[in-house]
Amino acid sequence: MNQYIKSLKDENKLNISIDKSRSFEWIYNKIAGPCSVEGESIIEIANQIKQCGANALRAGAYKPCTYPILKETNGWKEGLRKKGLELLKEAKKQSGLPIVTEVMDASMIEQVGEVADVFQIGTRNFQNYTLLDELGKCNTPVLLKRGTWGTIDEILGACERILVGGNENIAICLRGVVGMPSYRHVFNSIRWAPDLMMIPALKELTNIPIIFDPSHSTGYRNFVPSMSKAAIAAGADGLIIEAHPTPDKSISDAAQAINYKTLKEIFHG
Ligand code: PEP
Ligand code: MN
Repeated sequence: MNQYIKSLKDENKLNISIDKSRSFEWIYNKIAGPCSVEGESIIEIANQIKQCGANALRAGAYKPCTYPILKETNGWKEGLRKKGLELLKEAKKQSGLPIVTEVMDASMIEQVGEVADVFQIGTRNFQNYTLLDELGKCNTPVLLKRGTWGTIDEILGACERILVGGNENIAICLRGVVGMPSYRHVFNSIRWAPDLMMIPALKELTNIPIIFDPSHSTGYRNFVPSMSKAAIAAGADGLIIEAHPTPDKSISDAAQAINYKTLKEIFHG
């Protein structure tokens, strides 16, 4: 490792995540779909995003929101939950696309695992160690979203939690970090800063695949195409993008959702 990098190796630590002789397999590099499963529409969305070039469908059946949502609207209350999982199952059957969906808690692994081809760990659970430890015991691939506060050590440490359990099917998802107040006066949907430099920084240390999320990173759909290109140029191994047939009508994360045409341009461009 080069002289400018403070050694992360420590006798008391395993540091298997930074063992560069270790390689990782990851086939889900064009992931797209709505923020949440909104209803039966997810089946047609799956077919459409496949046409746009996606090789996996993303959508949350369980959606942890910043504030607790108490009121249920058409069955949606922080997701369609169980019903959302059933709809994802049907979307997968009809489109053939693998499913990337969030598991919020260790107690939900079995239930979500009946549908998920990839467990998404949300930013809020990035350091939920009981969850990470349990996912280490599974064979199902895990897409670990960086906590909005996550340092490079914390990213690698969280990966290692899963790796030590024996699950080597992991990828890191960079989804924006705290620290973008200068934009909010004008672009009020922007909440996070895309930390593109974390891509080459992680690449210096680890072979764990990196998936960039331009949707949550920017919070604003017009910035999604350019940040997608920038992330690939910086060395990202894939993208996870929020797309919706009528983006402004998305139940959650509407401002960052893109339409099919833009999605196709990103995936084919
Ligand atoms: C999401 O992918 O819709 C999501 C909730 O992401 P994050 O956990 O990064 O906020
Ligand atoms: Mn979202």
